[in-house]
Amino acid sequence: MNTIPTFEEWKERAEKISIGGEAFIDGKYVAAAAGERFDCISPLDGRVLASVASCDEEDVDRAVRAARRAFETDVWSGMAPVERKQILFRFAERIEEHSEELALLETLDMGKPIRYSLTHDLPTVVETIRWYAEAIDKVYDEIAPMGKDELGLVTREPLGVVGAVVPWNFPLDMAALKFAPALAAGNSVVLKPAEQSPLTAIRIGELAAAAGIPDGVFNVLPGFGPRAGKALGMHMDVDMIAFTGSTEVGKLFLRYAGESNMKQVALECGGKTPNIILADVPDADIAASEAAFGIFYNSGQVCTAPSRLLVDEKIYDIFLEKLLAAARAIKAGSPLAPTTEFGTLVDDVHKRRVLQYVEQGQQEGADLLLGGNSADFENAGCAIEPTIFENVEDTMVIAREEIFGPVLSVLKFDTHENALKIANNSHYGLQAAIWTRDLSTAHKFARALKVGMVTVNSLDSYKQVLPFGGVKQSGFGRDFSLHGLHKYTQLKSTYISL
Ligand code: NAD
Repeated sequence: MNTIPTFEEWKERAEKISIGGEAFIDGKYVAAAAGERFDCISPLDGRVLASVASCDEEDVDRAVRAARRAFETDVWSGMAPVERKQILFRFAERIEEHSEELALLETLDMGKPIRYSLTHDLPTVVETIRWYAEAIDKVYDEIAPMGKDELGLVTREPLGVVGAVVPWNFPLDMAALKFAPALAAGNSVVLKPAEQSPLTAIRIGELAAAAGIPDGVFNVLPGFGPRAGKALGMHMDVDMIAFTGSTEVGKLFLRYAGESNMKQVALECGGKTPNIILADVPDADIAASEAAFGIFYNSGQVCTAPSRLLVDEKIYDIFLEKLLAAARAIKAGSPLAPTTEFGTLVDDVHKRRVLQYVEQGQQEGADLLLGGNSADFENAGCAIEPTIFENVEDTMVIAREEIFGPVLSVLKFDTHENALKIANNSHYGLQAAIWTRDLSTAHKFARALKVGMVTVNSLDSYKQVLPFGGVKQSGFGRDFSLHGLHKYTQLKSTYISL
């Protein structure tokens, strides 16, 4: 087993790391056609990590044309699934071999603690690619039930060119959720990483090529949302956009599709997860420590972050004591220290946005129980203290809007009906959690909660075997599982009169 590098070793590697910032189009690294670039800045210390190609409409068009050409020549889409599987396995293996380098890039680029980029993000990326590689030669098409003189075939075909537009909170992980099933199904992919965190996506371009993914099948276009992202959404020859990001931008992609070629759109958007602690919670210590870990993991920059904690008034005081103890025990510090659990936010712009919510919470009359200030850890320039508000009403902005930072709103409830009412009073519907010993209560809540995913006595629903996604304005379409594979195919019916 490899030993995990020490803080000093990570710092040394961070000093030396260097990466080109070109786009990856048609199997090669290329500059943006207009020659424009932007600085990729680390939130750890403000250093410029790379000068990155700022792609525009022309670059999007180049990448889409390369992707279409590859698709039409059948080099990938026409390959036997068992062969695509082997190449995807090699791709996963290349990424795994470079895990430490990629984890470090992820941490330097968007600030998450290295322990999580190394032990969560990278292994999940590798596992996701392997999961879809394994699946692809095991899914069968259908024959329709018909009379003896006719034959009906229902076949699944790849869509063509898939544009994947992803956020910065789990840069490579979110990207793999899209490109792994899209590639496995035989599509060509144009991936646009977030402008805050383009480095790992750029780096894996050459790993894809080294694994044997043919030129043009996997392309990476760094650039700004309103330019490169919009151009991909508006392109007349893109068949589908798979998007993860904010609800606001998700709605733009629906407009882009309507204003261009009616491309398919799948949206994984924001969330405001209610985490409901009933009086018969099986183990209050575990529930409290998971509640704290859940909201402060990745500095709260998680779409499923349990940002609304609903606690039964019968156990309120004792539960809050446990919650505060768990929150205080979280180890904050430099994201490069292997022991750090809580680091920095992605950048200064986002930090100011989160601090505005904290101010607003106080103005609206919620009580600040913990944190609330800008923090100053070594190598964590854009940090905010873990923050907890109590006496939050579900009409307050901090209980309604997605803060996407380390800010927890605690609400008290008296009856199960009221807990459900508060939980469902949101335009988001991504995930909800319920903590109870009672199986019937758990099932009743699971049925009544208006979300895409429910967890019981846990907050973790992020597993390759479970469909992942939301309802209401959290989006539609599912990642993970075979549903996440079928999304990248379309059905064809062939009727044959015998
Ligand atoms: P964002 O919506 O600002 O950006 C996401 C992507 O869209 C980026 O690549 C960005 O460049 C692009 N984009 C931005 N403006 C655009 C425009 N005008 N036209 C086209 N593309 C544009 O989101 P973010 O700040 O990067 O990420 C945070 C959001 O992502 C949160 O709302 C979070 O809940 C959501 N998220 C959801 C999930 C999920 O699975 N549901 C997972 C992770 C993050």
